[in-house]
Amino acid sequence: LGQDRPAPWTRADAARVLRRPTDEDDKYSRGVLGVRTGSERYPGAAVLGVEAAWRTGIGMVRYLGPDRPTALVLQRRPETVAAAGRVQAWLIGSGTDAGDRSDAETEALAEILAGAEPVVVDAGALDLVGPSRAPRVITPHDREHARLRARLGFGPEKGRTDAERAASALQTAAALGAAVVLKGAVTIVAAPDGWVRSVQVGTPWLATAGTGDVLAGAIGAVIAGAEPGTTPAAAAATGVWLHGRAASLAAGRLGPAGGPITALDVAEALPYAVAE
Ligand code: AMP
Ligand code: MG
Repeated sequence: LGQDRPAPWTRADAARVLRRPTDEDDKYSRGVLGVRTGSERYPGAAVLGVEAAWRTGIGMVRYLGPDRPTALVLQRRPETVAAAGRVQAWLIGSGTDAGDRSDAETEALAEILAGAEPVVVDAGALDLVGPSRAPRVITPHDREHARLRARLGFGPEKGRTDAERAASALQTAAALGAAVVLKGAVTIVAAPDGWVRSVQVGTPWLATAGTGDVLAGAIGAVIAGAEPGTTPAAAAATGVWLHGRAASLAAGRLGPAGGPITALDVAEALPYAVAE
């Protein structure tokens, strides 16, 4: 690996992963994402993830979660289906810290993690994740990654360079059999087989509450609707690219130096990133 930053995941790479709808498509063939995020205390995380999934381009979002987030999700996005059914992939964990989660909710998340469908695992659900043969994408920032590594029995990262973060993400990926999205100003995407890329298309204006929830929704939508044969890591890197690009477009509307954006602004700009 050396001292270099991993190769970038580019616009052309992302374009190969995203599937353009055709005349043959219907809402089911375009992908159905199941979402179990948010809590009574953090209902907004559910709204942001669902909004991002819709705006990344998907056939259907099924939302299953606590009452308050369910009401807010349906208020903002009445097209969301709040009923169980077949899904191509799951998104879990955003806005569900252990202290904010009922036992029933924890059990439901564990059941999803025991299943065979691909799962994007964010925030509070990172504490529940273990080694798996099924497709998994985990989305920790550096602090969440350090906590996860401690639980897996690994030492802290050796340093903060991109090469060192990449080495650490690769180790976590191999231990869990999961694609690791290690978030930061440069986001590292690592796969269990040693594949690793970096994504740096965002803007420091992204450092604001809720943008991680939007990222998780974008990744979930890409995984549920990607070209056949797409690896979880390639789908995840594509979600990171779209999220960063959407943020740059949203911030860039305010002037050449960019300007303040919120997580919902990023979600609302996702269709423009997809269109590019
Ligand atoms: P979270 O920490 O879960 O809220 O996620 C924050 C999101 O914002 C991730 O997608 C990060 O990669 C991104 N982000 C945070 N800080 C920066 C920064 N200084 N520059 C670019 N992206 C950032
Ligand atoms: Mg987060």
